[in-house]
Amino acid sequence: MKHIFYSLVLLLSLSACKENPSGEDGAMTSTPEKQRDSVQDFAIVIHGGAGTILKENMTDSLETAYEAKLTEAIQTGYKILQNGGTSLEAVQRTINVMENSPLFNSAKGAVFNHEGKNELDASIMDGKTLNAGAVAGVTNIKNPINLANEVMVNSEHVLLSGKGAEEFAEEQGLEIVDPSYFFTQKRYDALQRTLEQEKTAKKDTKTAFYDPFIKDDKYGTVGCVALDKNGNLAAGTSTGGMNNKRYNRIGDSPIIGAGTYANNKTCGVSSTGWGEYFMRGLVAYDISAMMEYGGKSLKEATDAVIQKKLTNMGGTGGIISLDNNGNVSMEFNTPGMYRAYMNDKGELQLGIYKELQK
Ligand code: ASP
Repeated sequence: MKHIFYSLVLLLSLSACKENPSGEDGAMTSTPEKQRDSVQDFAIVIHGGAGTILKENMTDSLETAYEAKLTEAIQTGYKILQNGGTSLEAVQRTINVMENSPLFNSAKGAVFNHEGKNELDASIMDGKTLNAGAVAGVTNIKNPINLANEVMVNSEHVLLSGKGAEEFAEEQGLEIVDPSYFFTQKRYDALQRTLEQEKTAKKDTKTAFYDPFIKDDKYGTVGCVALDKNGNLAAGTSTGGMNNKRYNRIGDSPIIGAGTYANNKTCGVSSTGWGEYFMRGLVAYDISAMMEYGGKSLKEATDAVIQKKLTNMGGTGGIISLDNNGNVSMEFNTPGMYRAYMNDKGELQLGIYKELQK
């Protein structure tokens, strides 16, 4: 009798292990598959940077071009999710569309550093496993978000930088381009203007490099957060960093917890703005932590972190985020942020300035 009882217990515990294999893939926490009682079966949100984006400085044709590219990008991810694809896949392909567009400060269209080079940063995070990958200061990778994903999936590391990251990219067979691929006249001219302004700026101020007068040229990062039909959240961010950056400066975008964060228990976040503040405020993780430990809703957490904490620190920028029910928050304290959201019914919200346009 005792024998039968112990065999039964063993059998039951074995089958329980099989149902929850998340411990086997190196997950830090075992997050159970979400109950599919969501508000949204799946959802996706993107940004194309935050800053002083004003209607009066925008031409109709440029506005149309941004709207079209944001729509194309979000629909790319939407279709993947609609067809049952993963949130990680949706995040990468959506970001690829924006990385390949000269409109954004990311890959093609990235800002120039002080020496006239493009140095790219990106990161991605899987909300199911809390696994993450990131790259910083790469100069010849066509789509840095894909390399961040390779770091997450095919290395034991989280963040690779510079030459080493580029060597890893070659090993993984990623598309390598000549650095001249990233050149755009608009960004080059922006650097020249900044260099001119620097000549007359006070040399001794610690903030001369980040002079508020010239800071608008440094925005335009791209990011995406997606929730798939299995309830898995993923988030990613890709950027050229800040115009006129020096000394191999690295911003928040490749820093997990600052520029990117995803956790199925709470939310996914991608940040854009003045990276030094996002790093010091650990903005993306802070939002998740307020939800996890403080019981806040996504709206409450993003409002507290962006409108109060970041603003009080003097930081500028914004975030896009989804909670694990597909609720969205697109919060920013700058005049504008390129952004779009689609729910599972295919309804699109799109905005550039304070108010949503669609
Ligand atoms: N956060 C980025 C950085 O500091 C810039 C941006 O989002 O525009 O590198």
